[in-house]
Amino acid sequence: MRINNNTPKLIILAAAIAIGFIDGHMSANAQDDSQDDSRDPILELVGRLELESYKTVIQGLAQFGDRRQGTERNRLAVDWIEEQLRAAGCSNIERLHYEFNPEPRPPRQRPLQPTAPIELTTSTGGNVGRNGSGPGGSSIYGYRAPTGVNRDLMAQPNERIRELNREEPMNGPRSQVYCTKVGSTRPHEMYILGAHMDGHGVNEAVNDDASGTALVMELARIFSSPDVETDVSIRFALWNNEETGLNGSTAYVEQRRELQGIENPANSGEYPEPSWLGMIQHDMMLWDHGAPGADGEVSRDQRPEADVNIEFQSNSDLVEESMKLAFAFKAAADEYNTDYPATVGPHMTNTDSTPFMNEVASISLRENERGAHTGAGWNPTWHTPLDVWTMFSDDDFRLGLNAAQTTLSAIAKLTGVRIKN
Ligand SMILES: [Zn+2]
Repeated sequence: MRINNNTPKLIILAAAIAIGFIDGHMSANAQDDSQDDSRDPILELVGRLELESYKTVIQGLAQFGDRRQGTERNRLAVDWIEEQLRAAGCSNIERLHYEFNPEPRPPRQRPLQPTAPIELTTSTGGNVGRNGSGPGGSSIYGYRAPTGVNRDLMAQPNERIRELNREEPMNGPRSQVYCTKVGSTRPHEMYILGAHMDGHGVNEAVNDDASGTALVMELARIFSSPDVETDVSIRFALWNNEETGLNGSTAYVEQRRELQGIENPANSGEYPEPSWLGMIQHDMMLWDHGAPGADGEVSRDQRPEADVNIEFQSNSDLVEESMKLAFAFKAAADEYNTDYPATVGPHMTNTDSTPFMNEVASISLRENERGAHTGAGWNPTWHTPLDVWTMFSDDDFRLGLNAAQTTLSAIAKLTGVRIKN
């Protein structure tokens, strides 16, 4: 599109030079004009996303271990996120409060030992779905590796990380934080960008989901810059209690659904809950190393064909709107991602966009398809002691950064972004 805008001017300029109407001085001015016209605020904002800055926020979250809900380390992490949002200049910082009081969980029969070699399973039991290997490993769908949540403290070999995660959760009150970029012409409408800050597995919850949390925090920082203006509002939400069953995002939908679009106080121009235009979740952004091999092992390297998976749910009430939103994101990725492309799939599941999907267009961005890939053991760090800082390379972090480029550019376009001079 930038090229198309320039093209007519360049053709006219070339023609003018060819027939001798313009000298060198004038042609230089004409070029300057064309550059001003073609200045793309979205490209400029994408340029403000930096790998080192993204990694620094992930590392900041990792200092609280797995940030498991119902613990001191979780509460400290929520406080830290709030401080960062404030320092970034994000406005209207709020907490949403709810109670989480589940029945006690029965003890695990057979503890998972993720640090041991991962063994191959086959689909002879018929319960492994379409990604299961067939009898004798001959299926076209590839191999699976087992998945599950590690709850064994001693399975974490790093003593410092083990000690960070010693405290067990207690039932009781919970909170999660969000802040908002207020739109200048349509403050009563908003897109919600989300990620969950809680994790589990006796690790540092780097991929699941510091990678998504840091992405949303970085976008909050960039959109809150004093020179950035949008027509529509944007909310940045860092959900809690995702891992226990999407309880934080569900509490948000239950408490705030009815408040949409209401001006409060009356005639104040303020909308505590702008009407929802779309919900975009970011959950596990770094790891696309392909399927397990016949030995059940997954490569340590990011695969060359790694991509950002954008998913919507084909069984939701708003499938049409959600699919359109997903393809708007893909178009933005095609134009602005620097390293990895994006693909669209219809199986969004098991993440905080699910409670929204019958209320508003909802999608999730992820390293892999949640059902077919993550569920088939493509990521050995998922909920295991391997989800730690040292497990990931810059190729991995760059995949997360590309997802940030996708969301930043798509949302910038959808909210009518401008950069003030
Ligand atoms: Zn997650």
